[in-house]
Amino acid sequence: MAGPETVVKVLVDAPRHAGLSTALSYRSQHPLDAGLLVRVPFGRRQVAGLTWAPASGDDSPGELREIAEVCDALPSLGAHWCALVEFAASYYQRSVGEIALAVLPPELRRLGRDAVADRVRRLQRADAKSNGESAGAIDPEPALTIDQRDATAAIAAAMAGAAPGTTLLHGVTGSGKTEVYLRAASDALAAGRQALVLVPEINLTPQLIDRFTRRFAGRRIVALHSGLTPAQRLRSWLSAQLGLADLVLGTRLAVFAPLPRLGLVVVDEEHDASYKQQEGARYSARDLAVWRGRREGALVVLGSATPSLETWQRAEAGRYRRLALPERIGGAAWPAIRLIDMGRLPRPTVGLRASAPPPALASQIVAAMHERIERGEQSLVFLNRRGYAPVLQCAECGWLSGCPHCSAWRVFHKQDRTLRCHHCGLAEAVPRACPDCGNPDIAPVGRGTERLEEQLAALLPGARIARIDADSTRRKGALEATLGAVHAGEVDVLVGTQMVAKGHDFRRIGLVAAINPDTSLFSSDFRAPERLFALLMQAAGRAGRDAGSASASEMWLQTWHPTHPLYRALGRHDYAAFAAGQLEERASAGLPPFSHLAVLRADAKTADAARAFLDAAAALARPLPESADMMIYAPVPLAVARVADVERMQMLVESASRQRLQAMLRAWLPHLDALHLARGDADDAMRADPKRRVLRWAIDVDPLTI
Ligand code: ADP
Ligand code: ZN
Ligand code: ZN
Repeated sequence: MAGPETVVKVLVDAPRHAGLSTALSYRSQHPLDAGLLVRVPFGRRQVAGLTWAPASGDDSPGELREIAEVCDALPSLGAHWCALVEFAASYYQRSVGEIALAVLPPELRRLGRDAVADRVRRLQRADAKSNGESAGAIDPEPALTIDQRDATAAIAAAMAGAAPGTTLLHGVTGSGKTEVYLRAASDALAAGRQALVLVPEINLTPQLIDRFTRRFAGRRIVALHSGLTPAQRLRSWLSAQLGLADLVLGTRLAVFAPLPRLGLVVVDEEHDASYKQQEGARYSARDLAVWRGRREGALVVLGSATPSLETWQRAEAGRYRRLALPERIGGAAWPAIRLIDMGRLPRPTVGLRASAPPPALASQIVAAMHERIERGEQSLVFLNRRGYAPVLQCAECGWLSGCPHCSAWRVFHKQDRTLRCHHCGLAEAVPRACPDCGNPDIAPVGRGTERLEEQLAALLPGARIARIDADSTRRKGALEATLGAVHAGEVDVLVGTQMVAKGHDFRRIGLVAAINPDTSLFSSDFRAPERLFALLMQAAGRAGRDAGSASASEMWLQTWHPTHPLYRALGRHDYAAFAAGQLEERASAGLPPFSHLAVLRADAKTADAARAFLDAAAALARPLPESADMMIYAPVPLAVARVADVERMQMLVESASRQRLQAMLRAWLPHLDALHLARGDADDAMRADPKRRVLRWAIDVDPLTI
């Protein structure tokens, strides 16, 4: 008895622990495909929703509320897109509705049926008008090097096959990886398919868009990242979804772009941590890209000079195809790596104090920089700490400029004479005297980029020095202006944090110096060496990009551990040796990629409350049959335990099998929901005492920072 009305399942944006883990039922005049944008009544509001898998048939339409409108100008997001969202939700332990709605452009969720139809119409009209119009000159394709030719041929062959798989393109900066991406994209487009290119940072999208636009004049190329205005982002997204865009370039959120004809996914700098979302649904865009490529029959190219060890290990095991570009274009040599042994540096003798700290910069480095300036070359000095000094200290009583709300120091910023906490943002004017004893003599300890800039000015009188870090580039356009000055040769020495190490194609830099790279050498995070190696390789890659002067380019490292294997591998720019050493250590310690991790994090007003929650969670996990061969570790505080008066703890779960870990998390999660509710509401004594309650908790699957 098919009535005129049917039941349709609709996803709305609701977190899993709101008890709305699956789609809701609504009444509709006719059956609707999955993946359509609708507006539905939800509580007293009307919200955006997505029609989902067919109704199970246990509801009768009569009792249900009706779908308000169907945005039918928009075609269905399609089975592939729905599958991607389902997978991401299940793998990262979130609700499908939360992910599905969160990855749509905010503007799309806001607009009603008619407004969406209007946007679609306008876009289609603009597209029809621009069709065949070639926008400006087309960049000619350079003749490929032999390595590029081999890589391009292998990629083309793979793309033509039924299961193109995943390819690691391993090559240092300047080895011509982007040219290989361009050729792969060209092949995909020629086959009538769409290409998705992911980059780690918004800052890098304009350069890349430029390069693609100049190569593919007349093709529609759109950007997708969080720096766009809501209207721009909607336009890009609609372009992709309607199949008008040939190429989508974007940051991690673009991995969810609906692309009905996807043929190629490129993940540039695939090792970069910014591919992992750090809040909400903590997905890895790189890993989702690989999954998506396999499902949609698209080739995935992961490019890097220093692949993540997960990726490298899969290539070693033959699961990914490995293509290498071992040489820099034009034969530019790798910079000579020179280590300064800080322990053997002559110390300035200050009166009778024998143990004065070593100078900011070794005299050899200063002399080398001098030479570069004389020759009209630039130097890049790299220090991963912004501000003037990490802490202020009172010489009299030992007071230190701690943050009252965090377990961290407040950083001294000289430019505006503030003490700023880089964790909670608290900023105050520097006190005139020690707040504890009144001594006016409070002094900066240690060094950040601001101070380094000052010290360099003193060491290199007359040199033109510029700085790039989060402080110097806060003003809109400031970063572009400084980069422009560097490119125009108006800067002799560029000082900066890791912001300067990434991506920029500097031409005149002959010298790179890393001032204090040791800090992450002995971190408790097992991935710290991997990150340091990648960062230093990347920084080294800034030197000698111009083949003319590259033969003499150099990178200096000031270190207390000159014999450390990491520096030795770097000196030979031998990623493979470094990776082999690390993988061996990981294998013997049972760490990823040889095991699989998830972390349960809990935030509370007190460390006790956070710990109690995690202990209770562990107690609920142990009896589960799925936990049989899991390692569940004791709760530990995060590296910075307290931020903005919130104590943060975490508990690690480890398994040799990804599938078993997934099964365990799935079984555990409902217990955690219940636990949270119980601890939050049921116990009156507990509710009265917020100190005993946990504020938030979250599961992070494949966490990047431990
Ligand atoms: P990567 O992406 O590995 O850093 P790029 O593709 O950007 O390398 O190449 C580095 C530089 O060399 C760029 O300026 C690029 O235009 C140039 N280049 C790349 N391939 C070739 C080639 N086959 N012939 C000439 N120049 C090339
Ligand atoms: Zn004091
Ligand atoms: Zn703080």
